[in-house]
Amino acid sequence: MSDCIFCKIAAGEIPSNKVYEDDKILVFHDLEPQAPVHILMIPKKHITSTDDVTDADAELLGYMLTKVKDVAKEAGMDNGYRVVINCGEDGFQTVKHLHMHILGKRPMKWPPG
Ligand code: 5GP
Ligand code: ZN
Repeated sequence: MSDCIFCKIAAGEIPSNKVYEDDKILVFHDLEPQAPVHILMIPKKHITSTDDVTDADAELLGYMLTKVKDVAKEAGMDNGYRVVINCGEDGFQTVKHLHMHILGKRPMKWPPG
């Protein structure tokens, strides 16, 4: 997607503060952190949102979940963390490229509001 900011970050066209990268995913710090540690994990493949996930994405999304703990531990989130995927207008998704927020190093509240 030529006009997608996260595709551009994945392609290295826009710089990011990288935490982890492999052939399938990129993990980087959020520009406007909502917690002492606020990391984003994206698939390099453009998927607009959870509304657009297909059976063909099952392995990729499962792979992302297996990487969460590694990223969290590496970032020092030893006391837990929160994983969030926003979708659509009511979900307050602002970037239309599926991403997981991984937030930690402070106690979270529930419901999130
Ligand atoms: P959403 O609201 O779509 O779930 O979250 C998008 C997130 O991407 C926000 O937390 C926002 O701060 C972050 N973000 C938007 N643009 C950039 C960018 O260019 N670089 C980085 N590192 N984060 C961004
Ligand atoms: Zn994209």
